[in-house]
Parts: sequence; structure tokens; C-alpha cells
Amino acid sequence: MGAASSDITPKSTITSINPATKQPIGEVPDMSAADVHAAIERARAAQREWAKVPIEQRCKRVLRFAEVLMERAEEVIDLLVAEAGKTRLEALGMEVVVIADLTRYFCKHAPEMLEPEPVSLHLLKHRASYLHFQPRGVIGIIAPWNFPFSIPIGETVMSLIAGNGVVLKPSEVTPLIALKARELFIAAELPPDLFQVVTGRGPAGAALIDGGINYCVFTGSVATGKKVAAACGERLIGCTLELGGKAPAIVCDDADLDRAAQAITWGGFANSGQVCASVERVYAVDSVHDALVDRIVSHASSLRQGNAGVDEVDVGAMAWDQQLNHVEKIVQQAVASGAKVRTGGARGPSGGLFFQPTVLTDCKQDMDVMRKEIFGPVIPIMRVSDEEEAIRLANDSHLGLLAYVFTKDRDRGKRIAERVEAGTVMINDVLNTFACPETPWGGVKQSGLGRTHSIHGLRDLCETRHVNHDRIAMAREVWWYPYKPSTFRALLRGARLLFGKRFWQR
Ligand code: NAD
Repeated sequence: MGAASSDITPKSTITSINPATKQPIGEVPDMSAADVHAAIERARAAQREWAKVPIEQRCKRVLRFAEVLMERAEEVIDLLVAEAGKTRLEALGMEVVVIADLTRYFCKHAPEMLEPEPVSLHLLKHRASYLHFQPRGVIGIIAPWNFPFSIPIGETVMSLIAGNGVVLKPSEVTPLIALKARELFIAAELPPDLFQVVTGRGPAGAALIDGGINYCVFTGSVATGKKVAAACGERLIGCTLELGGKAPAIVCDDADLDRAAQAITWGGFANSGQVCASVERVYAVDSVHDALVDRIVSHASSLRQGNAGVDEVDVGAMAWDQQLNHVEKIVQQAVASGAKVRTGGARGPSGGLFFQPTVLTDCKQDMDVMRKEIFGPVIPIMRVSDEEEAIRLANDSHLGLLAYVFTKDRDRGKRIAERVEAGTVMINDVLNTFACPETPWGGVKQSGLGRTHSIHGLRDLCETRHVNHDRIAMAREVWWYPYKPSTFRALLRGARLLFGKRFWQR
């Protein structure tokens, strides 16, 4: 348990459950607003000192976290399997490795990314500007349960490198992994108060925004994201919002069907489909639809599902019961409206929170399964006449996080990708760019605001400040007092020369 929690006397607790067995695995305090505010103040005091450390030194110290993480990788993987129901390979590949790599990447490149940036002035040549990037202070991170390590800890690493302190409010479904991460930061000898973890439910997240943080990075549902944006607006602090997704996969008539089917199967079922970038709907062009469906059904029905804590499995458990209920309901509704179950379609092995890898065909655009986020191991497939129809239906959504296009023609793929309304479009691949720290992650439409990862995400964790200075010493500027008719005439002549028709025709 983190030091933050040892400073308080909890009035109530939250029990963490292993979703593969439904057995309790730990308890954490459900912190009050006062507890959360005290954690912010501890982080703020530590951050004042941390910000004075040159960025190269900060990177050196944060890099030690990646080393400790790799030394203790099994410990983290075991907890991810136990608390989130993941398979061991997913815990390693989608959580631990992603963070080890992101940490190394930003420790190497952040000093350059946050170097002051000159801005040359196109008109006032006797002056010049530059941007410099200062830490914001304390970053509040509010996290979901689906990637309880790689989402908030990537944001934490980037925040610390940028010179901030962090207070993380993990999901109430997966609090233990956040406390484990804090343990690793302390083992890496980072200042213990710099990174605080506050455990609790929604009100603890609200208290975090209310408690004087300087910026909020929120990842979660659209509904909560709107509340977070409103609360940040009330306090006039900025926020990055990483919200839901409904990623379409467009399969063109010239696609490599073997690759497309494998990618869609993995993209729909990895992490039990609880990925904001999951393949949530497939639009397959008529001429390849049947062959694609046969391949996906064949892959899906060969997957092994169960408790990754004891068995070797391909698909693990759903993280919590409410999500399982939601998936069951949305599949039942789709079937009642005419969708056909080609494999799966019901709860999985008894004893845990499992839903079978499910493939649905004959889906229609107006079904909930094609419109609402499923966030479970379900691949709904719809037959379309051509790629134009596929693009139109892909864009017919309030969400726009990820999208996928399958075609052997790279130029055609790019043309389609540029017409699809999504923060990221991948051609002939799925999910992976979350593991590329140099690329921006984030959505358009109601999938969110701002970006995490990349130079853009790093700079969002800083205040971009601007300094404007003289290049040539001058006694005065011509437009200063006193205002004289001769100055007006001279300025007008100059403006006509610069901005008038004759100037632009030259
Ligand atoms: P959620 O919105 O229910 O909860 C997210 C977090 O917000 C939790 O820590 C919760 O305790 C907290 N919270 C709840 N009410 C709050 C309030 N009023 N103020 C502040 N914090 C509050 O989401 P979830 O069910 O944990 O996560 C699943 C959702 O997250 C899905 O929609 C998924 O698509 C999305 N997600 C998006 C991304 C992305 O990168 N865009 C990544 C992962 C998950």
C-alpha cells in the first residue's frame, strides 16, 4: 500500500476482486476529499524541488523506474492477471513492455522535445521570440480499469519527466496495480511524495479536480469525461480527455484476407475486447465478406478462454461484473434484431467473469452493437456494397478514436484513411500504435480532446510560455506615443506597400 494511504484513517474500503475467480484479493481505502487534497499538497511540495532538477537529471532518475520495472516484471504481471483478468502475454506485451519502452523513449528524447523553440517573426524583424516549456505543477491523472498500468503510468512517467508532480486516482476496479506502480517508483528512489496514489470511487476523482491540481489527464467513458471537462472548466484548468471508441474496420475487395482476419480477430478479442481501440464493427465489401467471415469464425472458435492465473489461455476474463452484463445485453439485443451468432454469444467458463469470443454477422448500422461501445469480446460484421458505403458508415458515429483499413494497395489505403474521421487510422494492422510512444494518441468527435504520447502529449503536460526580445537596440517604436498625423500617414503607406494588391502580385 502506498504511503499516501498510510497517512489516513479510512472510513470505508474498496475490495479488489479477481475477475477470473470472483475472489477478493485486497482492500484499499475509499479516500475522502480531505485525504485527496492532502495528497495533492504533498505532491506539490515535492514538485517544487523536482522542478529545479535539470531535465537531463530528471530523465536519468526516471530511467531507473524502467530498470526496476523490468527487474520486477513478473510481480507486476501476476498482479495484472489477478486484478484485471488479463492473459500473461497481454500483461507483458500491452502493459509492462509498453511502459518500459515509453520510459526509455521519453528519457532519451524529452530534453530535446522540451528545448526552447525559436519563433522567427515574419514582420517585426528587429525582434524575436522563443517558446519555453515549464512544468504545470501537479497533474491529476484519473484512470480506467482496462489498462490499469500502461495508461496511467505512461502519463505519470511523461508528467514527471516534464517536471511535474502527479496524483493518480486509479479506477476503483483495479486500485492495487496503481499502488504497485508507486512501490516501484519508490524502489527506483524517486522522491516518495512526488507521485501520490489516491484510491476511491468517482467522488475521489471529483475531489482531485477540485483540490487544486494544475491540469487533469482523464481516461474513461464519454459520460464521465463530460463531467470532468465541466469541472475543469469551472476551475479554468486544462484537461486531456481520452474517451470511448467504436473503431470500424473497413475490409476492401483487394484485402489480404488471411492477414485481415487474423488482425480483426486479435483486434476484437485482445484484453477480452476491453480496449478503447478494439475492432468494434467490421464493414466487409460484399465480394470478400463470406471468405472473411469464415476465416474470423475459424480463428475465434479455436481460442482458449479461462483463468490466466492457472491455465495457458488466449482470452481472459472481463474486468468486472457490470461490463459483463453490458456485453451480454448488447449481444442479446443484436440477436433479437436479426444478427446471427457465428460463434460464442454467451457467458464463458463458470466461476469467473467470462464472455465467449463472439462473432456476429448480418448486423445493421442501426443496432446498438454497431453504434454503442461494446467493450467486450464481440466482433459484429456488416456486409457493404463497396468501400464508399463502408467509409460513410464508418463515419456515421459520435466516436472517432481509431479506425482500420485493409487493402493490398497502400495508396488506396491512405486515401481511405484520410477520409475516415478518427484520431488514428491504421492500414493493415490494429491496436499497436498505443505502443509507439512517438505517435499521438487521442480521438476526434466525442472520443476526446487533446493527445497523450508523442511530443504533443509531452508538451501538453507543460505550460507553453513565450518570450519576445529585441534583436536590435532601438530608442523607441514608431507606433508609441505621441500619436501624430505624420506617423499615421507613414504607417498607412507602409501597410499598403506590404499588404496591398501590388505587393502580393510581385
Ligand atoms: P469511467 O468513466 O466509468 O471511469 C473512469 C475513471 O473516472 C474512474 O477512475 C472513476 O472512478 C472516475 N470517475 C467517475 N466519476 C467521476 C467524476 N465525477 N469525476 C472524476 N472522476 C470520476 O470509465 P471506465 O469504465 O473506468 O473505463 C472504460 C471507458 O474508458 C471506456 O469508454 C473506454 O473506451 C475508455 N477508455 C478510453 C481510452 C482512450 O485512450 N481513449 C483508453 C482506455 C479506456
